[in-house]
Amino acid sequence: MRGAFARWTAGHVNLKNRVDRSNMAQKNLLMVGAGLSGAVIGRKLAEAGHKVTIVDARDHIAGNCHTERDADSGVMVHVYGPHIFHTDDTEVWDYVNRFQTFMPYKNRVKTTSGGQVFSLPVNLHTINQFFNKTMRPDEAHAFITQEQADTSIEDPQTFEEQAMRFVGKDLYEAFFKGYTMKQWGCHPSELPASILKRLPVRFNYDDNYFFHKYQGMPENGYTDMVAGILEHENITVHLSTSFDRSQTADYDHVFYSGQLDGYYGYDLGRLGYRTLDFERFTYDGDYQGCAVMNYGEVDVPYTRITEHKHFSPWESHEGSVCYKEFSRECGAEDIPYYPIRLMDEKDMLQDYVKRAGAEQKVTFVGRLGTYRYLDMDVTIREALDTADVFLNATEADPMPAFVKAPL
Ligand SMILES: Cc1cc2nc3c(=O)[nH]c(=O)nc-3n(C[C@H](O)[C@H](O)[C@H](O)COP(=O)(O)OP(=O)(O)OC[C@H]3O[C@@H](n4cnc5c(N)ncnc54)[C@H](O)[C@@H]3O)c2cc1C
Repeated sequence: MRGAFARWTAGHVNLKNRVDRSNMAQKNLLMVGAGLSGAVIGRKLAEAGHKVTIVDARDHIAGNCHTERDADSGVMVHVYGPHIFHTDDTEVWDYVNRFQTFMPYKNRVKTTSGGQVFSLPVNLHTINQFFNKTMRPDEAHAFITQEQADTSIEDPQTFEEQAMRFVGKDLYEAFFKGYTMKQWGCHPSELPASILKRLPVRFNYDDNYFFHKYQGMPENGYTDMVAGILEHENITVHLSTSFDRSQTADYDHVFYSGQLDGYYGYDLGRLGYRTLDFERFTYDGDYQGCAVMNYGEVDVPYTRITEHKHFSPWESHEGSVCYKEFSRECGAEDIPYYPIRLMDEKDMLQDYVKRAGAEQKVTFVGRLGTYRYLDMDVTIREALDTADVFLNATEADPMPAFVKAPL
């Protein structure tokens, strides 16, 4: 007999060897959350003939990707912080382009440090400007790895040691230390080395923030794209509607993209998140000349300023809307943004995951349901796979509580 515990390890579900049961009798399904997870799973299951109800506690669709036009300036605003779509997954790229025209967009980030503006990620321009040199790529590589990097650190354990080992004290302090302290609310010596996996420096002038094959911005915003995904005769959406666990009984299956610990009323404690505060201001003209300006200095209280109109370079607006972004610990009433996943939380997470594994009619999905940071393309990929697993589930091999396990 398959134990309940086995159900939550179903990250290894083999999609290829399964029987396609997409013609199974119509089921009554609930998606908790009208973000990308709920919308994409709901759409695929609606197309397979199931009846899909979607609830969201907020008064809008699209979750944290929500965009809306500023009434005064007409600027498209990324309400919960800047979102740039980038992926190597052709199926996901084709999927989003089915519902929205994507305009070419390259993310080029700048940062202030010590009273100057530099280009990010740290590249040859940044290095030459910072050290006041005119090095070629191989010279810069030798300079950083042989003269700057702290080679006395043999086995880096912390973020700080890893950064010192890769780039040395000067670049670490100018570009990594202050920003990381503000973003995570702790000293880089308290964060694991694994956060900085590779040498975070480019020895050429490529300042495109992402490496992915496809990159772009939805012409009419993410909310319009999600509205297109939700437009199906088998889908009904209820906004400003919170999910209550007792509702599970009314449905054949529930896909839950809310907080994993929230599903259980946080009774084992709260999993740690960072939240963000946005201080909005307007400007007549062009405030900073780019979409995102980071602030590396620890004494500047915000991490970055986003000027939203630069996310739509094909549009033209006189006025401008900007957000100063502040990061802090997430309280009970705050919006959870980034999962912290510190080592001492592992036990609590494990307990919630075990408990969730015993659920028969609920699958936990998305960034909150699986307590992981997920980019949009990964969210969509996992949502499409989750719908496939549901369509191919059998009595002997039922729908698991996690298609992607948090641990
Ligand atoms: C600041 C920030 C910047 C980001 N930038 C990028 C980027 O540049 N590129 C990129 O690819 N990705 C980015 N992401 C990631 C992106 O936001 C996620 O991939 C995406 O939002 C995940 O979608 P989701 O549906 O899983 O979660 P969400 O968007 O959080 O949607 C979950 C929904 O469930 C609802 N909900 C929760 N609990 C309940 C309940 N009990 N009852 C009813 N409704 C409920 C919530 O209201 C919410 O609308 C960024 C994330 C953040 C935080």
